[in-house]
Amino acid sequence: MKVLLVGGGGREHALAWRISESPRLVKLWCAPGNPGIAAHAECVAIGAEDIPALVAFARKNAVDLVMVGPEAPLTLGLADALAAEGIACFGPSAAAARLEGSKTFTKEVLDAAGAPTAAWRRFEDPAAARDYVRAQGAPIVVKADGLAAGKGVVVAATVGEAEAAIADIMESRVHGEAGASVVIEECMVGEEASFFALCDGVRALPLAAAQDHKRVGDGDTGPNTGGMGAYSPPPAFTEAVRGEVMARVVEPVLAEMNRRGAPFRGVLFVGLMLTATGPRVIEFNVRFGDPECQALMMRLRGDLLPALAAAAAGDLSGVSLDWSEEPSLVVVVAARGYPGAVAKGERIGGLEAAAAVPGARVFQAGTARGADGAVVSAGGRVLGIGASAPDLRAAREAAYRAVDALDWPGGFCRRDIAHRALQAGAL
Ligand code: ATP
Repeated sequence: MKVLLVGGGGREHALAWRISESPRLVKLWCAPGNPGIAAHAECVAIGAEDIPALVAFARKNAVDLVMVGPEAPLTLGLADALAAEGIACFGPSAAAARLEGSKTFTKEVLDAAGAPTAAWRRFEDPAAARDYVRAQGAPIVVKADGLAAGKGVVVAATVGEAEAAIADIMESRVHGEAGASVVIEECMVGEEASFFALCDGVRALPLAAAQDHKRVGDGDTGPNTGGMGAYSPPPAFTEAVRGEVMARVVEPVLAEMNRRGAPFRGVLFVGLMLTATGPRVIEFNVRFGDPECQALMMRLRGDLLPALAAAAAGDLSGVSLDWSEEPSLVVVVAARGYPGAVAKGERIGGLEAAAAVPGARVFQAGTARGADGAVVSAGGRVLGIGASAPDLRAAREAAYRAVDALDWPGGFCRRDIAHRALQAGAL
């Protein structure tokens, strides 16, 4: 099978590693890839959002399957453009990708499917929004309805905070037009977890769950980021929870998407709050999370490629994947200053020493080759340092040993990945 992987981050490095191990693989390209991915695939200089160039490349090279890592090409219609050429694509159509792009659409689908989620109302009028907040009381959650790079959500502890959020979002327009309307939600309380399922439009194959660490600083402090680390599985995500999420969320949502004429093919990322009354949906994404994907790929046993191809072809029946019982953990190493402005082009040493730590694996994200061929930093989140071991404590120790083997003074990481599991006594 000839495969084109789209993307160039740590998620795609982990996917390239697993796809490259498949006995069914004939050739793997990655657009645009990175120096780490180049160990598993031929990197081609096409941007992940250059839809016409990706389609032309796939056609010219008789690609059998296009595997899409990030969400942007999906919302731009890459899967639709490939389908028009008869080329199989793992990833949803633009219509189905609205499950990530539109909060209102997602809430409507969840309600129609009867899936558990926070009660919600949408408002275009700030006065009506304020009345609702006063009537409901706090805590309560205020969200800019449009895309605001993860910054448009305020979990308000008091009615005053919620009113201030409404004023900022709708009247001061701190997030621009994303604040033309707000979604106000009931505040859910519990542990957060991310669950992933492969979907073929009708059926779903459960993968595994992970827990992400969104804040930049230890103890979940500081601004939100793309994710500073992850581990899998989260102890609170039991077999019973998984069964409930499949039966009450994933399967009814697939049926509802079909009913709407937008069948979902690809990986459904279910962001969950594990509340005292059961799992409830916070949000969906339409692709693997990053760094969660790195933690998942470290636990995967068996051949990923046929499962991706079966989902893309619309028939997952008979496909299964196994997961190692051993936990895995990934520490993101970012450039100093992230999530703000960062310096680029800094030489990163110690990559071999880090990879040599038993149980560890180095995933490259924002990296490039410098003029002398050395690996240099080229983005905010630069490396994912993963490890798996018989227990989470050992995995964490191995991952941080590998981090400490790096020679990059300009990098930093959180030192407390999996701290919630530690507090829960799982380490
Ligand atoms: P992302 O950048 O991850 O896409 P987003 O802007 O889509 O974020 P959400 O994922 O909806 O926003 O919310 C961000 C965070 O806010 C969640 O991870 C959760 O911690 C908190 N949150 C959102 N909705 C609720 C809720 N109803 N109750 C409690 N906490 C919530």
